[in-house]
Amino acid sequence: MSLAPETEPLIRLRGIQKYYGEYHALRGIDLDIRPGEFFSLLGPSGCGKTTLLRTIAGFEGVSEGTVTLGGQDMTRVPPNKRPTNMVFQSYAIFPHLSVAQNVGFGLRKRSDLNAAARQTMVEDALDMVGLDGYGSRGANALSGGQRQRVALARALVLRPKVLLLDEPLSALDKKMREQMQVELIRLQRQVGITFILVTHDQEEALVMSDRIAVMFEGEIAQLAEAEALYRRPIDRRVAEFIGTMNFLPASVSGDRVTVAGLGDMALSELQSTATTKGDTVAGFRPETATLLFEGQTTSDRVAEGTVSEVVYFGDMTYYDVTLEGCEQPVRISMRNVFGRPVLEIGTRARLAWSPGAVTLFRPGG
Ligand code: ADP
Ligand code: MG
Repeated sequence: MSLAPETEPLIRLRGIQKYYGEYHALRGIDLDIRPGEFFSLLGPSGCGKTTLLRTIAGFEGVSEGTVTLGGQDMTRVPPNKRPTNMVFQSYAIFPHLSVAQNVGFGLRKRSDLNAAARQTMVEDALDMVGLDGYGSRGANALSGGQRQRVALARALVLRPKVLLLDEPLSALDKKMREQMQVELIRLQRQVGITFILVTHDQEEALVMSDRIAVMFEGEIAQLAEAEALYRRPIDRRVAEFIGTMNFLPASVSGDRVTVAGLGDMALSELQSTATTKGDTVAGFRPETATLLFEGQTTSDRVAEGTVSEVVYFGDMTYYDVTLEGCEQPVRISMRNVFGRPVLEIGTRARLAWSPGAVTLFRPGG
């Protein structure tokens, strides 16, 4: 769900700088997060995602800049006085306590709540995460997925305005992770609170988020909705980190560009164009081109080449194709069609491609 841009941000970060001694971990972060949004911080390990999340939670002070939550300056406010709650990567569950005791842990100091009220809140939270009836179980007897749910319930029971999730699914196997992704989306819609997810998994971010901030080296490189990020990456780093992109040497002259292996085209035909002159780099995604099977025709443009690698995935096949006039092979992903053979290495291939799927990048990145 995307809210109108004029909605007052729930979280506003301005000019955030964070030093660990000499090390410059956050380098000028400006960020607005809207109420009710599923927001992700995505980037490679060490780029500052956890540091930024801890800055929002208040576990980490900033060296410079301001943190505003719900219109209030919270830059110097401790974590327990902020409307945020965090689900840690490690879950941090107490194994000697029951599931209900774990979930109710944060309520124990709430003198305004009697035992019955607490129990209702714990049961509601367990219900939200699909663990109704598990309250009396020992926390040490849970599977990985169940421990994850307990950690979520424990954070939700406090009814925070913002739930901060630091790589919450990284310890789960692929099937369980995919299942929990769907459940987290459902949960976020159900409770309507703002989720901020930290992940280094681009697929996870694309699947789950309303908007994604891609981070490199303590900076936000691009902030956009999933589709915009995938289709119009701002630079080569983002294009490489989100999905796969083929990069080809290119040369701009006037209003035309020549791309190695693909040939000559007008700049106005391209999907998006960085302002550039002379030698540069063009890119296209593997699924935007197709190999033509014998007898197949196309209204797209055609490049000639040879299949140099075949990777079979069942539903898909990845083909590496060495195009004429281009040393480095390009990767093409094709959906397998029942009854049609997978091409073999060495096959002469015709590649149907479209200039509308080609992006031009600045030469440096
Ligand atoms: P990410 O979560 O994106 O993997 P982090 O935010 O954990 O990255 O860390 C960003 C950088 O800051 C890393 O280089 C890390 O080594 C460094 N860093 C994180 N916490 C500390 C700390 N407490 N002291 C010194 N350096 C730290
Ligand atoms: Mg981290």
